Amino acid sequence: METTIYNNLLKLFVDDNEFVDWRNKPFKIGEQVMATNGHVIIIINDIVAPEIGPLTTYDPNGVLSVIPPNCTLLGTISVDDVKNLISTVPLIPVEVECETCLGEGEVEYHFESGKNYYTEDLECPVCKGEGVVKSKSGEKEINYLRRIIIGQSAFAISYLDKIVSCCEQLQVQEISIVYQVGKDSKTVFRVGLVDFLVMPVAIELNDESIIGSVSIKL
Ligand SMILES: [Zn+2]
Repeated sequence: METTIYNNLLKLFVDDNEFVDWRNKPFKIGEQVMATNGHVIIIINDIVAPEIGPLTTYDPNGVLSVIPPNCTLLGTISVDDVKNLISTVPLIPVEVECETCLGEGEVEYHFESGKNYYTEDLECPVCKGEGVVKSKSGEKEINYLRRIIIGQSAFAISYLDKIVSCCEQLQVQEISIVYQVGKDSKTVFRVGLVDFLVMPVAIELNDESIIGSVSIKL
């Protein structure tokens, strides 16, 4: 059993949030190891990563209650189809925090009039209130805010891109859909021994963030 690969897959889905520290590393519940960023839970049999410790700083039932007990094969999608759709999204400039306002989008102006002294918060003139500016190096990245429809739900490509990366590391060409009950509820994708529970994103009619849909083979 190649445990290094699975440990790397788990790490792709850990959170980076000082307020939810239990999500910042993989954990074990029962006979499964998992990691979550709050949007996706990756779930694998603990045989692949025996050294991962139990969840101690959060109630395991809080995690287990989200995981559907019964999964059955509903259809499959092609990894290449997902990858090709993601590759159609135009790259956007990488944005970094504005140094002038430290990401606040506002700067404080001080001025005097007669004996009075005033301060006022005004829109940062460097980033125009956005709090971010384009990276000076001109780097570009995928627009992770775009979405893809799979079955009934829409998913952020930031998470689908990570699942594609897992498939490539596992050298798997197909993703099984093993749970999907409605457009606003979770979907479980299965790739070999690995389950990905993914929360959908809410979309509007004619939502421009949608770049297409992936066909499901039944
Ligand atoms: Zn600024």
